[in-house]
Amino acid sequence: MMIPLAKPHIDEKDIDHVIHALKSGTLSLGPFLQKFEDSFAQKIGIKYAVAVNSGTSGLHLAIRALGITENDEVITSPFSFIASANCILYEKAIPVFVDVEEETYNIDPKKIETKITSKTKALLIPHIFGKSANMTEIMAIARKYRLAVIEDACESILATHCGKNTGVFGDISVFAFYPNKQMTTGEGGIIITNSEDFYKYCKSAANQGRSDDKQWLSHDKLGYNYRMDEMSAALGLSQLTKIDFLISKRQELARIYSAELATLSGVKIMNSDHLNEHSWFVYPIRVNERIRDQLIKKLFEKEVQSKAYFSPCIHLQPFYQQEYRYQEGDFPTAERLSKETLILPLYPGLSEKEIILIRRALADSLKELNEENRSA
Ligand SMILES: *Cc1c(COP(=O)(O)O)cnc(C)c1O
Repeated sequence: MMIPLAKPHIDEKDIDHVIHALKSGTLSLGPFLQKFEDSFAQKIGIKYAVAVNSGTSGLHLAIRALGITENDEVITSPFSFIASANCILYEKAIPVFVDVEEETYNIDPKKIETKITSKTKALLIPHIFGKSANMTEIMAIARKYRLAVIEDACESILATHCGKNTGVFGDISVFAFYPNKQMTTGEGGIIITNSEDFYKYCKSAANQGRSDDKQWLSHDKLGYNYRMDEMSAALGLSQLTKIDFLISKRQELARIYSAELATLSGVKIMNSDHLNEHSWFVYPIRVNERIRDQLIKKLFEKEVQSKAYFSPCIHLQPFYQQEYRYQEGDFPTAERLSKETLILPLYPGLSEKEIILIRRALADSLKELNEENRSA
């Protein structure tokens, strides 16, 4: 039986919640949405939350809320999911990439300052694979140059930096709930902020720019339909009640992986550090780039799913190369990581026994590849 990369954790309580929403007769803009937003804000420790229909929608509204517009520059990472740069392009602003740190996959604070110009408006910081970027250094730079900060926390729910949750450092932050994330609503995302202005803007813009006066057909700004429906909010609320369990299960499995793989030669694991508590969106390993793609094939033959992640980097995606003239070599660390990294199955239902099977599949595959490449 194939071990999948990811699997949402859906139990009877989740199913009951969604059925309850369905039976209530209110399928949008009802009590589950409000309750999910309030509970999420409370769990993260922030004033406001606006649930939306995807992480990408949330990032777009974050860009709009900050007033980022044509030709403004936004500094971000080339090693991320494409949405974290696309949301900048939606407003005709310019993503300015800064290379990442090898150890953490996250944007390298030491390389940010040289990219700041008079056109720089904001830093958009993805926290990759469930580990926080160095927000201490990043916020110091933001203060020094008076730049706004958006955290793309889509992969890092309840990951902490110096004991604080990702999402609380920036002016406005976004989480995502696609089925492979640490918790899911099906499709979905949420924007969080301590700013009442940003909150009001996002709440209205996600709902067609409707004004506060509850007049259904009164629109006081350009809006979108980025609403989260009641079934998704009901699922989100139910998932949120067990989020601590979901994260600690991932942490436990990651510890088992790390113990199992530490002694496997040819495999580099992601190290933990004392500043950041990792919430493990995926379990990444690095191998020699010459064998990475063959290894993924071999693992698949042994019924273990794995994936090259993120490959290629954002700046080397076909349309970024064509439209923006990026080239191989522009961000060498991100490029090397994207050629060496693969992710292994990680989800709360994965067992220790399966991790041991995966270790064996990895060891056997590496051995086979060594032999094949030696005789070739
Ligand atoms: C998942 C993800 C998103 C967007 O999520 P969707 O809900 O699929 O739109 C954005 N940024 C990062 C880094 C992500 O991993």
